[in-house]
Amino acid sequence: MREQTDTHGVRGSRRGFLKAAGTLAVGLTQWRKSAAASSATLPDGGDSPREPLRIALFQADVTPPLGSPLCEALVKPARRIVDPLSARGVILLTGEKPIVLCAIDWTSILNGGYRVWREVLAQAAGTTPDRVAVHTLHQHDAPSVDFDIEGLLAPRGLSGRTFDVAWARAAVARVGEVVSRSLDQPRRVTHLGLGQAKVDRVASNRRVLGPDGKVLYARMSACTDPAARAAPEGTVDPDVKLISFWDGDVPLVSMTYYATHPQSFYGRGAVSADFVGLARALREATVPEAAHVHFNGAGGNLAASKYNDGAPSRRFELAGRLADGMARAWDSMKKQAIGAQDVGWRVLPVKFPIRRDLDEAKCLSVLDNPNEKLVERVVVASELIWIRRCARGDMLDLSRLRLGSADVLHMPGELFVEYQLAAAAMRPDRFVCMAAYGDCTVQYVGTEIAYRQGGYETGRWSRVAPETEQVLMAAMRTLLG
Ligand SMILES: [Zn+2]
Repeated sequence: MREQTDTHGVRGSRRGFLKAAGTLAVGLTQWRKSAAASSATLPDGGDSPREPLRIALFQADVTPPLGSPLCEALVKPARRIVDPLSARGVILLTGEKPIVLCAIDWTSILNGGYRVWREVLAQAAGTTPDRVAVHTLHQHDAPSVDFDIEGLLAPRGLSGRTFDVAWARAAVARVGEVVSRSLDQPRRVTHLGLGQAKVDRVASNRRVLGPDGKVLYARMSACTDPAARAAPEGTVDPDVKLISFWDGDVPLVSMTYYATHPQSFYGRGAVSADFVGLARALREATVPEAAHVHFNGAGGNLAASKYNDGAPSRRFELAGRLADGMARAWDSMKKQAIGAQDVGWRVLPVKFPIRRDLDEAKCLSVLDNPNEKLVERVVVASELIWIRRCARGDMLDLSRLRLGSADVLHMPGELFVEYQLAAAAMRPDRFVCMAAYGDCTVQYVGTEIAYRQGGYETGRWSRVAPETEQVLMAAMRTLLG
């Protein structure tokens, strides 16, 4: 059943043992000169004059029209709208160029889609794209947008088969207009609030290992196998973290961070922001004076599976438990004074080592074959874009937002939760949050050992090599200083 599958509509396979051989084509993480020049960390207060911190808030509808393909055409197209999808975010105004953070209720945004989102929001906010972080929440009855893939599919008679292209362009432009207008009414920020709380029975690890150290159960978003569900929760980050901005006693925005696949059930053409969207809505109803923006963390190998058999009522149970965690994070919040000098932005472009068996000629032969299934042609088109980006030496931006005693890492791809846990462990003296699902071109990013354990995520649906772990850990260490 589709509801038991993940992003790519394929059951987990136990093969996928990758040969760890060959030269390490490890990309050196480097500071991109322009980014370093324009985005260097601001000094830590000291004698510098105190600029006030201001914030602009925006929210716009990005619900696709009926008939739109969803989730890279791996699920049924939109047949009804259960609840609307939104793009939400904040613009931090510090006296330097603005910093834009945006969270979108879509499955993924990648390649040209990611580039266009950043460029449009940067222009609208009067900043540069390297100071814009765009993230999806990864719901699956939702659009996945890559303007580059249309360039490969359209000449082969497959235009608009993975998403509604004209609508998507208009949606990005509309969000840009809303961003631009939001700058007319920035709010003063005097305080930062930080809180966190454990979430009860939502995320569980999808990869249950057997006695041989290999993946025994691929426990996907909804799981009907009692043995797989009985297995322990496994490695997760149980905490939802919360960052809020205040003007005196008035809360302006609550930003929450929690890592998991957000599906309760999907694949029926019923567009929805799923349980994370419902949890966010519950918080909106409870604290209506603040805006609510939710980011997905490093949830690549996590899902509600252990606690979710896919019955529709689970959506509300999961939403309630996540909202309860968000509420306790809110209640635990401690406030600290904040000014513009307490805000910093740093970008680190990183070259991801590509999966070794990706081959341009093989991709082209499938893409050019009209007898191949649409899903196969779409997948190889997406692989081809990544192969060519790597050949050009393209790097993906990681960034770190410093907010008083908090740091937020903004990451590309569907990272395993181990990255989020490692980032927090690198700076136990700081309040470290992670927003993943930036440019999703790399898809799953496992830990090095995970590629030897087999399983769904580290096979075909990961476009990076096992040594990516070393590259990313080094990059996070650099960013967190
Ligand atoms: Zn996924």
